[in-house]
This record gives sequence, C-alpha cells and structure tokens, in this order.
Amino acid sequence: MRTNILLLLFFLWGSLFSIESLGQEIDNYTLSIDKRDMEAANLHVNCSFIADFQATDTICMNFGGDEEFSIENLAVQGKCPLKYDYLKKDKKIIFYCPSQTRTAIQMDYDYTNMSSFFIYGKGDAELWETSYDEYYYPYIPNTYLDMTINLLLPDSLELISSYNMDNTNQNKYSCKIKNALAQSLSFAFIRRKAYIQSIATIPDTVHIYQIHDMQCSAERYNELLELTQKSIEYFSNAYKEEYMSDSQNITAYPIYLFHNGEGFSNRYNIGFISASQEKFSTYPDIYPLVHEIGHRWLGEYTLLIDDGQPGAYFLKESLNEFMTLMFIRNYFGEGIYKAQLDRCKKEYQEVKNSINDIPLIDITTNNNNTVVYRKGPLVLDRIAQKIGYDNLVSVIASFYHQYARKHPLSYNDFVKVLAKQYPEAGNELNTMVRDK
Ligand SMILES: [Zn+2]
Repeated sequence: MRTNILLLLFFLWGSLFSIESLGQEIDNYTLSIDKRDMEAANLHVNCSFIADFQATDTICMNFGGDEEFSIENLAVQGKCPLKYDYLKKDKKIIFYCPSQTRTAIQMDYDYTNMSSFFIYGKGDAELWETSYDEYYYPYIPNTYLDMTINLLLPDSLELISSYNMDNTNQNKYSCKIKNALAQSLSFAFIRRKAYIQSIATIPDTVHIYQIHDMQCSAERYNELLELTQKSIEYFSNAYKEEYMSDSQNITAYPIYLFHNGEGFSNRYNIGFISASQEKFSTYPDIYPLVHEIGHRWLGEYTLLIDDGQPGAYFLKESLNEFMTLMFIRNYFGEGIYKAQLDRCKKEYQEVKNSINDIPLIDITTNNNNTVVYRKGPLVLDRIAQKIGYDNLVSVIASFYHQYARKHPLSYNDFVKVLAKQYPEAGNELNTMVRDK
C-alpha cells in the first residue's frame, strides 16, 4: 500500500512537472524583417515577445548560425532588467528569470545566412529556412506559437511564402500565423527581373516561378501539373487528410520555385517547393517533386524526431520516398514501379558491404542518400509484399495520424503501429532496419 502511495505521488509529481514544463511559454511574438539595403543572404531583424517563465528559471531558444558570422549588432532588452547568455557555438540563447516572471523581451540584430549564401548565393533566389541550422529568429524548437510577421523588401525582390500575406504596399508584407510549428517559418526572396511567373488551375491554383530563358517545355509543364494534381489526390486519399489545412497553415496549393542557385537540394517548406530549374527542365522524370509534395504529410515539419535519434531519417525520408513509389505504382502501374525498384536495387548494390553501407537505424543525420532513399524503400517493399501494399499504406497513414506534430517521436513508435496489426512484419522490419 505504501508503495502504491509512493507510486501515486511519483506520478502526480511527474504530471505536475510536465505541466510546469509546458508552462514555459512565449507569446505576443512579432518578427519584423527588413531586407532593404541588405546584401545577399543578409537580413536586419527585430523580434519581440513575452517570455512567461512561470515555474522555470531559464528559457532556452535556438538562435544563430555560423559561430563567427551569423549574428551581428545584437541588442537585447527586457522590460525589466534581464540576464541572458548567447551561446554562439551551441546556437542558443538562454534567458534567466528576471524579477517579473512574465516579461517583454526585444531583440535587434543583423543576420548573415552562410548556408543560404553557399547554396543559392550565385543564383537569383535566396531561401530562409531553419533546416540547415540557420536559426535566424529565436524560437523554442518543437513548440507551437502564434506569430505576427512583417517584411520589408527592396523594389528588386519579390517574396515567396505560403502564408496569407497582406501586401497592400508593394514592398511591405505582413501576416498573422496561428499555431505554427516554431521552426517551420520559411521564406524565399527572388529577383523579380530574373523570374517569369505562371498560374495554373488544377482546379486549385498553382503558382510556378521559372528562370527566364531556362523555362521548361510545354510537355514538362503539363507533366508537372498532372503529377501535382494526381499525387495530391493520391496522398489526400491515402492519408485521409486534404492537402489544404487551415489549422496547419497550409492555405494554398504548392508554389513551385525553380531556382538557378548552386545548391540542388529539393525542398518542401510548407507551401512552397524549391528545386533546380536546370534539373526540372532537363531530367528524364520529375518524380522527386512528388516526393516533395508527399512531405506535406510525412517529413521534418510533421514527424518531430530529432536529428541524432536512431532511425531519424528512416522516418523523415524513407517512409515518404516509399509513399512516393506507392503513388507511382498506383498511377503508372506495376511496370514503372518495378523499374523504380530495380533502380533502387542497382544503386544499393553499388554500396553494399562498403563503408557507406550503414544500417538505416544509424542514419541520424541526412547524409546517406543511397541507404535513406534506395535501401529504405526496398525494405518497406519487402514488408508490403508480406502484408499487402494497401495494408502497409494504411499502417503508414495510421502512424501519421497517431504521431504527426507530436514531440518527442521515436523509430519504435512506427514499429509499434506496424507490429500491433502485423507482429511478424514488425520483427522483420526491425531486423532489416537494424542490420546492414
Ligand atoms: Zn525528402
């Protein structure tokens, strides 16, 4: 009995503690970005918020990028005297609880985005996203917050973002976002003169930005529209959740931004998809763009497993690549699907038993394309052959509904969902993910 009371006290303490942790809050968040008179990959930022310490002594936020160059001219002010540490190397800023537990904080600084400079620097677009560890505004990761955004741009630049921006004055944009994942804020600034914009209705509106003189053929353009429409239909149906979602701040169909930057990584940034113009215009197929559409449901902004955690990229990338192949199988048929799988097999065979043949579970940063994007789908195909393709798609959809937007998330959460219905398949997946 005594043990029971102790256990009860332990659980009560645990739940109290979690309530206290949740109490650590940021609100009244306003982010004002000024891009006028700033060089490429630079911004002037003013950010204000109320930090509510409640029962905690400190509030720790992601902040900064490159140790030496990212933040300059930092000024931090609290409504009452405020102590803080900016830990450049850790890319964090820590605020210590002042005399008032709820206090207004204002930060003003210049930010140089080295990743953006190296990836897109020589092109006509500049992307701002936190995914390359460029924390250009302070935030507590994996929390949700309401934000007011103000942006000022020079005449030469146009803003690409998925938010419903008020743009009454040509160079001034503003919006309010409700319940946004703190790390998900992303923007692109494009040089107006370099781009040509087109709009298609499929039946919802899709915006496409292409570089002048590098535009794709009419055939490729139609392929993009068709794959966009059909894959959105397929994924909406598979996940039983529409593409558009007010609660997730997805208020429009994808905006495609084809850039001529040096970097060629395709990106899904809640609403806009960026990719290389050259690849888009010249590659034999554009299935990788379907993969980006798939990230609307499965990816870094919904599956909140931290980098460094076992199986992080099996969850964030392999599952979505498998779902991309499931679209291909459904839309183009078994033949084209098998051809894609054969390509996966061939590429994986080339690294098999080499130093790069790392078990999927050990890929905890996105640094092994062959294992993540080729072996991952092959492993899942084996499971699909065992339990049925439709059944595996339902398991993945059910995992999405149970775990999306929740932090923390682990690889075992996925195995549990699979093993609950298909215990043998759960074991088999585990073996293949953990072994070479
Ligand atoms: Zn991806």
